[in-house]
Amino acid sequence: MPQATHLHTLSGMNALRTRSALGLVALGLIASATAVRAEPVPDSIARDLPGLMTIYRDLHANPELSYQEVRSAGVMAKAAREAGFTVTEKVGQTGVVAVLRNGEGPTVLIRADMDGLPVVEQTGLAFASKKRGVSTAGVESGIMHACGHDTHMTAWIETARLMAKRKAEWAGTLVMIGQPAEEVGTGAVSMLQDGLYSRFPKPDYTLAFHDSADLPAGQVGAAVGWALANVDSVDILVKGLGGHGAYPQATKDPIVLSSAIVMKLQTLVSREMSPLDPAVVTVGSFHAGAKHNIISDQAKLELTVRSYSDETRAHLLEGIKRIARGEAIASGLPDNLMPEVSVKDPYTRATWNSPEFTQEAVADLKTRMGDGNVVITPSVMGGEDFGEFRRADEDHIKSVIFWVGGADPQKIAAAKAGGPALPSLHSPFWAPQADKVIASGSEALTLTALRLMPKR
Ligand SMILES: [Zn+2]
Ligand SMILES: [Zn+2]
Repeated sequence: MPQATHLHTLSGMNALRTRSALGLVALGLIASATAVRAEPVPDSIARDLPGLMTIYRDLHANPELSYQEVRSAGVMAKAAREAGFTVTEKVGQTGVVAVLRNGEGPTVLIRADMDGLPVVEQTGLAFASKKRGVSTAGVESGIMHACGHDTHMTAWIETARLMAKRKAEWAGTLVMIGQPAEEVGTGAVSMLQDGLYSRFPKPDYTLAFHDSADLPAGQVGAAVGWALANVDSVDILVKGLGGHGAYPQATKDPIVLSSAIVMKLQTLVSREMSPLDPAVVTVGSFHAGAKHNIISDQAKLELTVRSYSDETRAHLLEGIKRIARGEAIASGLPDNLMPEVSVKDPYTRATWNSPEFTQEAVADLKTRMGDGNVVITPSVMGGEDFGEFRRADEDHIKSVIFWVGGADPQKIAAAKAGGPALPSLHSPFWAPQADKVIASGSEALTLTALRLMPKR
């Protein structure tokens, strides 16, 4: 898409056909004055970066758990209000909605998530979090921005400021939201259920980014189509008949049965799914027994199950139930001791990047940020609830979530050469090169929003 200068020239050309010569001269003067004033977006960001890093360090040192993001929401609301947005707080419990109306044009929604994780930070950073808190589920722990949502919030603030300062360059409505509780998978739905699309303008486009522990710092990526997966949590309570460890013939050992279930579950993906249809079944927790010589009467398994399509998800969940029951029958358990399989509700639904829209966004950013700085990335099996904002009107809304690299390129190279593995997102050691994430994140969001809302 053309840059601001060309857009103004275009509106001047339209005026040639429809307006008086005097009007044309006036328009031309305004256009050239605006074009001269407009500073390239990266230059604005570079100038703002020291101040943004102060905001980032403050947010990093003060993380909040899901649905407790009161301080973070306050920082975002204040920044948006000062930039000239109309701000509503407490949407979907702790969410923020900031609206900037700027004439006729499309509506673009830009989202940042706000919550930290129950992780004890071990980065050793000078501004590392020392916070502790109690989750809404009642669990006490340390708190850390181990998923980088502090970089998202900081870039969101910069994007809001840039868009407000550049109102002469675009037309439409900008809806910027601070979303609570991404980490528990329900914050997006909370905002939608609290009237995000009825109390506020409904978007034509939804944009977000997430920092990446895989991409080199500052590089922007996007997956075309499925970006992130359906995420289900499944509990299996395996029952048995307990007894003395020396008399197995008098028992039904739930540890042996559970082991068989764990092994058989591996065939769900490897033998029942197409090799071209991605799926994951991971048993992340297996607890049973109390002592060497006692055969337990139950075992508990906890699974994470990942997929993209609804059909694959249904097949996996049905298959888990079938395998658990089938192995119990094979072990000779009576009907009243069949395993109990419970699929947790709600689950995180897969995130879809509208393919053509994403291709256009990537192609445009390549021309603005440099060919090597913007890449198409593979889909991943992680989860995000950002996709809910598109799903709320999926025939209409076009959506993309970008990745923005946060990893030190030298450490990536060292890891590839057999050196120490890089920390992943959610690691207590995850310390992104935040200045690069914030700069590229704000740039990608601002440039994309400006392109989607051209001044006519
Ligand atoms: Zn996360
Ligand atoms: Zn995250």
